[in-house]
Amino acid sequence: MSKALLYDATLCIGCKQCEGACATQNKLPYNDAVAAEEVQSEHKFTVVLTKSNKFMRRLCMNCADPACASVCPVGALRKTASGPVIYDEKRCMGCRYCMVACPFDVPKYEWSKLLPRVQKCTMCPERVKDSQPTACAEICPTGATKFGERHELIAEAQQRIRDNPGQYVNHIYGVSEAGGTSVLLLSSVPFEQFGYRTDLTRDPLPIYTYRVLSGIPDFVPLGGMVLGGIWWITHRREEVAAAEGHDLPPGEGKEAKE
Ligand code: SF4
Ligand code: SF4
Ligand code: SF4
Repeated sequence: MSKALLYDATLCIGCKQCEGACATQNKLPYNDAVAAEEVQSEHKFTVVLTKSNKFMRRLCMNCADPACASVCPVGALRKTASGPVIYDEKRCMGCRYCMVACPFDVPKYEWSKLLPRVQKCTMCPERVKDSQPTACAEICPTGATKFGERHELIAEAQQRIRDNPGQYVNHIYGVSEAGGTSVLLLSSVPFEQFGYRTDLTRDPLPIYTYRVLSGIPDFVPLGGMVLGGIWWITHRREEVAAAEGHDLPPGEGKEAKE
């Protein structure tokens, strides 16, 4: 069964403990300066926004049919059956098509690193695999971020709206946006006030992404082949070096990644 997160902004107190727990989980730095940053970045996978005493989280939506994964020529991004959209840095060749394709402007690139990775929330896949809640849901003191089965969270969100119709916008964001997502949102103010797009189709976006990319002459077959070739050559060199028991020159091998 597919897991999901339900974030109910009306229960959120803006404590940002979810940000801190996420940083710890992902071995990222977190201090007052990072807490004050109001944008997702390569070192901050989730952010709690504040406007007129209202709160809203932003993070990767872990889409059901992710556009980011659909454009990745080497399969570095992948949707898992349990919900998380995971990333394999060993496969990634740095083309950054995922950053262009994502309708939520989520993936970020480690521009300042020698061997950069794409970074985003991957919905704590190790925890989910072990039937644990995500770090952000586990720490949330009010239940504003809740982890569970997607269909059960949708039913619960519908019930909350029915029980308190004046308290919520009559919409659960993420049930159908971009074909559905594993992050579901409830709010008392329109989602667009916090930058969420309301023009997204109910169809999975990969259909449209492919059409757009296909419209660029030779983009998919040629671009994919060229970049795939670069990736293959790079990784083949590492494999050969490993098999022969010697290291690549400094800066070229996996050992240079950290
Ligand atoms: S929100 Fe963007 S990065 Fe996250 S799964 Fe969806 S398409 Fe991919
Ligand atoms: S699900 Fe995990 S990675 Fe995503 S925001 Fe929550 S703690 Fe961070
Ligand atoms: S931990 Fe919970 S209450 Fe605190 S900011 Fe995050 S979602 Fe809101």
